[in-house]
Formats: sequence, structure tokens, C-alpha cells
Amino acid sequence: MESEREAMVAVIRAQGVKDPSILDVMSKVRRHVYIPASKRDHADPYGDHPCPIGYGQTISQPFIVAYMTQRIEPRPGMRILEIGTGSGYQAAVLAELGAEVFSIEIVPELAEHARTVLAAEGYTNVTVKAGDGYKGWPEHAPFDAIIVTCAPNEIPKKLVQQLRDGGRMILPVGSGVQQLVILEKTGDTFREIPDMYVRFVPMVRGRE
Ligand code: SAH
Repeated sequence: MESEREAMVAVIRAQGVKDPSILDVMSKVRRHVYIPASKRDHADPYGDHPCPIGYGQTISQPFIVAYMTQRIEPRPGMRILEIGTGSGYQAAVLAELGAEVFSIEIVPELAEHARTVLAAEGYTNVTVKAGDGYKGWPEHAPFDAIIVTCAPNEIPKKLVQQLRDGGRMILPVGSGVQQLVILEKTGDTFREIPDMYVRFVPMVRGRE
């Protein structure tokens, strides 16, 4: 698996992600274990594409994980909120970089799977909860960065409120055509920077 991971990292680097710490972490994190055992045989875990993880959801393409990670510039000790835990892979990459990760997943079975794998892989700096990401996680706010890995139709206001002054959020926005947006918060002002077009699963509304 190690040589497959190296090949995956070479593909990511060729697409423009150059941050050595991110490439190093992605050559360490065992992506295949985040794909549920029942799906693993057909998955090609180190190919640069999304893989099914059950419940109609996917583990994101490795390049996208690397790219979004690079854009939020994680540093050790940063407090990061992730919306859409899915397999737990993105959370593992952030945790391996030394961040304190809080991650919310709306499908309880996926939250449970991710929690189990992340614990088995030895991460003590990731907390996963089953719940509706639109609400964020006020008990642990403010966050230095927020990364959303499912696509809402517009930027969720509660998440912006939970971002620290000087913090940064990255998320795909739109239905059908989605565009990554980077939002930088400075005091009461926000700067929205449109970025590349992407394809994520929709961010679904939980029951109130
Ligand atoms: N970051 C994941 C990719 C997850 S795919 C990984 O590394 O594997 C997107 C996930 O967002 C799916 O698991 C989906 O169930 C979840 N999701 C969709 N709407 C949500 C919401 N409102 N709150 C939290 N999670 C949500």
C-alpha cells in the first residue's frame, strides 16, 4: 500500500499541491482503512477519484482533499470544524497535521464508522458527532477554520458566525454546478473568494 500511496501523492503534486507537510501526511494516512471493508475490494483506494462508502456517499478525491487542506493552511493546534465526516479520511489528514478536529456527519452509521476507524488509527485529537452540520458546533466555537465537504445551496450563516475573527472557511456552494468558495472573516467583514468548480454530494437539511 505504501507504494500506491506514493503514486497517489505524485498525482496530487503534479496537479499543483506543493505544501510538503500536506504531501507528507497524505503519504502516511492509510486511506484504504477509511473505506468500509464491504466496499474496499472494488474501490481502488489510492486512485485519484472518489470511492463509494455506502449510504449513497463517497470519500472525496485525494487531490480535492489535499487542495482544500492546503487552502485552509492548517497548523498544529488549530481548531478546525469539518462538516461531512463521511469516511473520516479528511479528518484524519487534518488530525495528522496536528489540528484539533471537530467533525459532524448527518448519517449516524457513517459517524460511528469514522469514529471507530479514527480511534483504531490512534487519533485522539478528532471528535466526531452525528448531527446536522447547518447548526455547526457552538460549544466548541470559535473555529480557526471550517471545511465543508458537502455542498449547500448558499453559505450557511451559523457556520460563518462560528468562525473566529481572522478565520477562514472553504466550502463548495451550489446545486448542480458547484464552486468552491473561500471565505475570510475579518471583524464584521467577509471576503468571498470564488475558486474552482467541483462536485460534492449535496448538504442535506436535517430535521429540526
Ligand atoms: N470528508 C469526507 C467526504 C464526505 S462526503 C471524507 O473524507 O470521506 C460528504 C458527507 O457529508 C456525506 O457523508 C454526507 O452524509 C454528509 N452530509 C450531508 N449533509 C450533511 C449535513 N447537513 N450535516 C453533516 N453532514 C452532512
